[in-house]
Amino acid sequence: MLAAFSYVGFQRENCTVGEDVEKLKQRLPLLDYLQQQSWTARPIAFGPEFVGLCPLHPETRPSFYVNACKNLFYCHGCGQGGDLIRFVQLSRHLSFRQSVAYLEQRSTVPTDSVAVLEQAAIFYQQQLERHPEALRYLQQRGLRDPAVIKELRIGYAPGGSLRRHLTVQGYSFDLLQRLGLLNPQGCDAFYRRVIFPCCQGGRIVNLYGRSIAAAFAHQFLPGSKGGLFAWESVRQFPTVILVEGLFDLVVLWQAGFRHTTCSLGTHLNAEQFQQLCGCPRTIYLTFDGDANGSGQQASQQLAQRLRAQGIITRHVILPDGHDPNSFFVQGGDARQFHSLLEAAQT
Ligand SMILES: [Zn+2]
Repeated sequence: MLAAFSYVGFQRENCTVGEDVEKLKQRLPLLDYLQQQSWTARPIAFGPEFVGLCPLHPETRPSFYVNACKNLFYCHGCGQGGDLIRFVQLSRHLSFRQSVAYLEQRSTVPTDSVAVLEQAAIFYQQQLERHPEALRYLQQRGLRDPAVIKELRIGYAPGGSLRRHLTVQGYSFDLLQRLGLLNPQGCDAFYRRVIFPCCQGGRIVNLYGRSIAAAFAHQFLPGSKGGLFAWESVRQFPTVILVEGLFDLVVLWQAGFRHTTCSLGTHLNAEQFQQLCGCPRTIYLTFDGDANGSGQQASQQLAQRLRAQGIITRHVILPDGHDPNSFFVQGGDARQFHSLLEAAQT
């Protein structure tokens, strides 16, 4: 869909900042940015393309396409297209330079933010102990090992209490709102959610909140989701299991498969992809065996890209309709999962 379209705007007008802009776009991929803006889309079969309703003009039938590899969008309805910067220019009515500045601010976590996220994570960890409904939810999802809960610093956001806790500690309302911990109304953004801190280089760069009720299933703070989950402890392994979801990861860790990492979705951002390619290794792709086959399609496509970088890949085929989490929750054990790894196809 994007083949006929090429975007050369910013190279022409801003040669000197080109390199920084490229880095910025890698750090904050277009698809991640759109999803943070609540853009919902479906993947198009066997490709890196996604389609959804255009955020730039009113429409009822989806005509807004995003190519996650090329990091470009195009809308067949309004004819607009380009990269992340172009999208921000159009959607926020900013100049090129203003858009870059806006995105720079969004994608870099200032030092005081690191401290706030750390404090928020500690607070959420304390809340987990105090809320039986959260512990019950973890049990339902098959997570029982307190050592894994502690190591991954899993917490719980009951809602309605973080703001007071952090403002008492002296953090400004502005900062909390800018980080997305408070919503525009000034209330806690995470409400009845299990919280997983996403760390990079030993510091928290984002928080992932998984609803324990029927509300929107998951939610991040604004900004990049960062690299692969728990990568610092997994990168040492020559063989790595890659899963889609954090509840897949926790049951595998619990069953002793500590060389499991998670991409938080089937689409890997540039940073996550580069981490996998960092040294020669074998990757067991263990995406969901969902009914419409989208997990397996994403898996095939990722395998192709990894193989092009000299990485060995294997597809782990789960029983129909299962993801690693449901496999363990419904009685699967480490020995059975090990057999699935052995049977994994190239
Ligand atoms: Zn449009």
